[in-house]
Amino acid sequence: MEIKKKDIRALTKEQLRDFFVKEGDKAFRGNQVYEWLWSKGAHTFEDMTNVSKETRQMLQDNFVINHIKVDQMQRSSDGTIKNAVRLHDGLIVESVLIPVKNRTTACVSSQVGCSLDCRFCATSRLKRMRNLNPDEIYDQVVAIDKESKLYHNRPLSNIVFMGMGEPLMNYNNVLKAIDKITSPEGLGMSPKRIVVSTSGVPKMIKKMADDEVKFKLAVSLHSAIDEIRTSIMPFNATFPLEDLREALEYWYEKTKNRITYEYVVWEGINDTKKDVEALIAFCKFAPSKVNLIEYNPIDDGEFQQASSKAIDMYVNMLETNHITVTVRRSRGKDIDAACGQLANKS
Ligand code: SAH
Repeated sequence: MEIKKKDIRALTKEQLRDFFVKEGDKAFRGNQVYEWLWSKGAHTFEDMTNVSKETRQMLQDNFVINHIKVDQMQRSSDGTIKNAVRLHDGLIVESVLIPVKNRTTACVSSQVGCSLDCRFCATSRLKRMRNLNPDEIYDQVVAIDKESKLYHNRPLSNIVFMGMGEPLMNYNNVLKAIDKITSPEGLGMSPKRIVVSTSGVPKMIKKMADDEVKFKLAVSLHSAIDEIRTSIMPFNATFPLEDLREALEYWYEKTKNRITYEYVVWEGINDTKKDVEALIAFCKFAPSKVNLIEYNPIDDGEFQQASSKAIDMYVNMLETNHITVTVRRSRGKDIDAACGQLANKS
């Protein structure tokens, strides 16, 4: 019977060091191999040239090195790139490179599919198959960093967890991936350049605060009225706004970090004065920023982007109440790479 070999990149540095000690080797060997796996991006044990042939064979007998493969890359007319990424078990997720002025942002996935049911999001139509492992998240970032250097002559500067999946429902692996992304042995990026976007899982927002994470938080709010939010994001019935708000207050108390809200305004759903008033009342307890995102149609027109008059009303009322507001245009729409359009279509 063939024994299923373990993915060596699932081990922490400490675990690798312990493994070598148990094998009668030096703990230091663990550091060497770890460096090969993470800083040098080795795809095979053969690549590890400063490790003896016997040790490489021993590793080969015990482990595999799983790597993602960019199956298909699509480039938009605006410079946005969408990668269809094949995982070791054949499943596919998508990640996106977004060039803005002199920055490059990677939008990465945290799960295959999604267990949430936001009615305006294409990913919600794929059921959640599994969580991504830390190395699968990390590899998406590395792939985009390479593409950024190749096509835009600069390294990746920012990361947003706004691809497929709900990052706070795969919290441990997302945290491990961010550890690798920010560590000098990985990509050495600043956590301040990383945004984790959540539909709002109160318990996990509190956990993030307790864990004193250094990355930024964005909340996909879309409505501050329970009835409306539940109608477009049905899981809001389980995690109502009051619980979300309490968790965010806890987050702000602990971190003193400004909270960013992602918000789409739809015609006939959340485009009245009452909706803006509710939003202001919801977020004024802490310094806040509201990103009004353009809606990317995913279907038969059930949801329609609100008029520019409605957007102007949001901007004016928020600004009058000293809440920072930006209006975001979407990128990569021609290749279905914009927010909420990731659904493994091609
Ligand atoms: N589950 C996480 C991250 C993935 S969604 C979250 O909900 O935040 C990333 C962002 O895209 C969220 O703000 C989400 O509300 C938004 N989004 C989803 N579908 C969209 C669509 N069709 N048009 C515009 N934004 C959309």
